[in-house]
Amino acid sequence: MEFLNHDILIVGGGGAGLRASIAIGEENPQLSVGVISKVYPMRSHTISAEGGAAAVIKANDSLDAHARDTITGSDWLADQDAVEAFVNEAPKEMIQLEHWGCPWSREPDGHVAVRPFGGMKIERTWFAADKTGFHMLHALFQTSLKYNNVTRYDEWFVTRLLVDDGRVQGVAAIELRTGQVRAIGGKAVILCTGGAGRIFPFTTNAAIKTGDGMALAYRVGVPLKDMEFVQYHPTGLPGTGILITEAARGEGGILVNKDGYRYLQDYNLGQPLDVRDPRHPQKASMELGPRDRLSQAFMKEVEKGRTIKLETAVGPVDVVHLDVRHLGEEKINKKIPFVRELAKNYAGIDPVYEPIPVRPVVHYMMGGVSTNIEGATIVPGLFAAGECACVSINGANRLGSNSLTELLVFGARAARSAVKFAADHPQINKDALIAQAEDEQRQITQRWFQKDGSETIAAIRLELNKTMEAGCGIYRSEESLKKTCDDIRKLKERYHNVGISDKSISFNTELTAAIELGFMLDTAEAVAFSALARQESRGSHQRTDFAKRDDEKYLKHSLAYRTDGDPRIEYLDVVITKWPPAERVYGQQTS
Ligand SMILES: Cc1cc2nc3c(=O)[nH]c(=O)nc-3n(C[C@H](O)[C@H](O)[C@H](O)COP(=O)(O)OP(=O)(O)OC[C@H]3O[C@@H](n4cnc5c(N)ncnc54)[C@H](O)[C@@H]3O)c2cc1C
Repeated sequence: MEFLNHDILIVGGGGAGLRASIAIGEENPQLSVGVISKVYPMRSHTISAEGGAAAVIKANDSLDAHARDTITGSDWLADQDAVEAFVNEAPKEMIQLEHWGCPWSREPDGHVAVRPFGGMKIERTWFAADKTGFHMLHALFQTSLKYNNVTRYDEWFVTRLLVDDGRVQGVAAIELRTGQVRAIGGKAVILCTGGAGRIFPFTTNAAIKTGDGMALAYRVGVPLKDMEFVQYHPTGLPGTGILITEAARGEGGILVNKDGYRYLQDYNLGQPLDVRDPRHPQKASMELGPRDRLSQAFMKEVEKGRTIKLETAVGPVDVVHLDVRHLGEEKINKKIPFVRELAKNYAGIDPVYEPIPVRPVVHYMMGGVSTNIEGATIVPGLFAAGECACVSINGANRLGSNSLTELLVFGARAARSAVKFAADHPQINKDALIAQAEDEQRQITQRWFQKDGSETIAAIRLELNKTMEAGCGIYRSEESLKKTCDDIRKLKERYHNVGISDKSISFNTELTAAIELGFMLDTAEAVAFSALARQESRGSHQRTDFAKRDDEKYLKHSLAYRTDGDPRIEYLDVVITKWPPAERVYGQQTS
């Protein structure tokens, strides 16, 4: 088998992966880097981020305030040393991105414009209209092209991490064009594979977000941290799950129920007075509470029978209305043009004239591959950054707009530590890596091409989606979670009998979907079992049978380790530096 080799491998060409590749060039342009991505990098999910990226820039803001908001938002489950590093390095990264060509929107006086975002008590979300991810990813991509040391493997699909002598030393990947498994060696490997929203039925996440990197790490003994914390975004389009960005509310949009009533005023959500700006009274609205609280308020409205029943292609769903009509056509076109475009194309509604039907949809995984503050996992040679990683700055609930900045800060940090690691570990065992990749090729051939199965990918994926939403959604209980864990056990059994009907070699998307389903089952298992073990309610993890936060027992990260049976759940202390746990209050709405 042909052997490809680099100093450092990056799996993922989204925001985290591209930032990491640039950081290696900045550290040492002599190092050779391989960037492997199952899609062309510009098709990574980062491209679809709309609302913005948070970093302190205004004179009335401070690093301390950004850290405090992030930690409060996390319901005190974020590691505070990681949050401090994050807020300190964020402004430099954002300014640098402008120098690389990212066109941040401006105030009339030329200053960088910032918009309010949920749970941020001061406006600090930078944006490029409502296509922030698109512009960020382009700026990163074009900058990465400057470094001749980067070799890209576009449309290569990583199926296995290659481990020798207890160290990750490369990956096995299918070159999708030829259908062949290749061995690629690297002294260090950085996973930047993004989230796993696709384990749920209603999600804003692209179809490629199937938890691959999380499962790859889990399979070589790295624990997945805080997987029970799954973020629902309160405003997705019903049916498709397409995101209507929080910027719509940041710019003044309001949420109303079937009676036209701003129901959030009943749920103790609101912004403290320090952001009240008399020129923009809407900015103080309770619509800018944190995402977990808004999604929970929606469920309470469903219980009270105050939501609207809407017929969709997937059956009747409960929705509320997001109303931006009062902003006027000019502001909508200038500040949130993409919201108008999406609502028109996917809901048949022009938000200038009609309210948009919305419902909570799965958006983001707070949990992921457990790393330290430098992006290193417990398995030497393996690093992770971006949404697939859990450093953790997001704890039990991420604040909107912290993620894009996290990609930059921790993509770069993981890269710097991988550079050091590679320098200290110059040898890799080529023969052992080739043997493992040959084994992977053999297994794929036997499992998928020489065997037929009685089960289909679609049936198992659908059942997985259903049981995740039913048992592991916005509200959970021991009963619902036990059922979901049980269902996943059975689905994993049935997965052994999945077969594919397309036996072609080149760009076999049925094959990749089948392998992705395996990654999804592993990721889902870690989510459900971690949720069952955490007998408290914190942030996005709300247990109807344990309604209160329990700091005595659970001010801890969960760690899910893969075993031959159910995952083993252990706990790890949260790092507290300056901000002792307190009650998470968002003030009383008064407007
Ligand atoms: C619709 C939407 C809007 C959002 N808006 C915002 C926002 O306004 N602000 C904010 O802060 N956050 C936002 N987020 C969250 C944020 O965009 C994501 O968390 C972030 O972009 C993830 O970046 P990433 O680099 O970690 O992964 P991604 O951008 O998802 O990239 C993952 C990469 O990994 C590769 N990959 C995965 N598996 C494999 C494999 N097996 N083999 C090879 N390659 C693989 C993929 O090809 C891809 O290149 C939004 C998310 C969504 C879904």
